[in-house]
Amino acid sequence: MSLEVTRLQLATLRGVDGRDWPVHGFLVTYPGGAVLVDTGVGGPQQWLTDWRVVNRSVADALDERGLTPGDIGLVVNTHLHFDHCGQNAVFKHAAFYVQRAELDRARREAPELADWFDFMGARFELLDGDTEILPGLSVITTPGHTVGHQSVLVAGADGSSDLLTGDAAYTPRQYEHPDSDDLPDGQASDLAAWRASVQRIKAARPDRVQFCHSTAVIHS
Ligand SMILES: [Zn+2]
Repeated sequence: MSLEVTRLQLATLRGVDGRDWPVHGFLVTYPGGAVLVDTGVGGPQQWLTDWRVVNRSVADALDERGLTPGDIGLVVNTHLHFDHCGQNAVFKHAAFYVQRAELDRARREAPELADWFDFMGARFELLDGDTEILPGLSVITTPGHTVGHQSVLVAGADGSSDLLTGDAAYTPRQYEHPDSDDLPDGQASDLAAWRASVQRIKAARPDRVQFCHSTAVIHS
């Protein structure tokens, strides 16, 4: 199947290092359909204030690409932090592909975010490990940032592949130097698992690695 990846600029927020970080979602299109990987920022107003969020509507970002939310048949959430699932409720009709362990974690740890990811009628497709969701579109589990984190591997029509990290690595620096002791706050909730997940991504030998929180793209 011919899959094409487009990065969407969905927000900026003030990072843990005091700088403004981008927030990206990714559109994966194919003849006859479209998938969204992460939905951008949403959550309690105090969180948006604390993180100095400059937000965009994901519907506006899709409109720029000639699509509406209704064109998105399924959503993959890499994980359920507020800058990755914050606009899930825009896609009430869609199925949300999430690791079961991640939904359990978010319900336990972030009940104040439930209105955003666990809205009334939300339809989850709960995953237990690596899964091919569509021909050429797979998730690989990358625990460590959160316990149920997953990254997305997309096989393009030209035979090359894109790996969408989610927060498995915030930026190329964490991706290239996972053994560094100088990690941004929040990068790893479980350091050993997180380092193993970065190696897992590298072992998949993606041609391009794209980040949620960096505009850099690693080509290999
Ligand atoms: Zn996160």
